[in-house]
Amino acid sequence: MEKLNIGVDIDGVIIDFISEFIRFYHKRYPRYKKLKKEHICRHSIESVLGIFAEEVTELIENTTLYGDFKLIDGADRVLNELSDHNIYICTSRPERHREKTAQLLEKYQIPHKKLIFRGNNKKLDVLLKEMPRFDIFIEDNIAECIHLSKLVKRVLVFRQPWNDNCLNVRGTLQYVDNWDQIRDEINNYKHNLLPSLL
Ligand SMILES: [Mg+2]
Repeated sequence: MEKLNIGVDIDGVIIDFISEFIRFYHKRYPRYKKLKKEHICRHSIESVLGIFAEEVTELIENTTLYGDFKLIDGADRVLNELSDHNIYICTSRPERHREKTAQLLEKYQIPHKKLIFRGNNKKLDVLLKEMPRFDIFIEDNIAECIHLSKLVKRVLVFRQPWNDNCLNVRGTLQYVDNWDQIRDEINNYKHNLLPSLL
């Protein structure tokens, strides 16, 4: 079997980061209790909430450090089905959270060949240093998705309220709603790689 190189983001794809973020937000701003996931309709949370970027950074930091994260449904099951492939996990979390992040992947037994931190770079640029050819990447940040689509053959946008407004006019992105769809898309991709028999 030919191994595929599959890139996977963590937050918003494997891990339900936003639910914990909302819990910390409610603790920090108890008077503003009505925040729901579907309100976060842009990647820029500060613009959704009307607060300073520094406050969002602090909330994200506290969430990352102290959050009790749940998996996004099916992520562990499907990634384990895909574990014969090369799975590169690539996150925008700061490098200082490497240990915490590795523990989280360990806790949920998420198989991976490598855990990569993008630092201040775009994910595509960091990935290409690991591997010149990426088949598939699963990501929820639309700006990263668009950049990844320069060279990754199939970019799967994990649908979330903050990315669900891209018109995809170049047709290079593919929205997915859950991990079973991701598995189907990867099976389709593999199928299309097979040399056709006459
Ligand atoms: Mg993400």
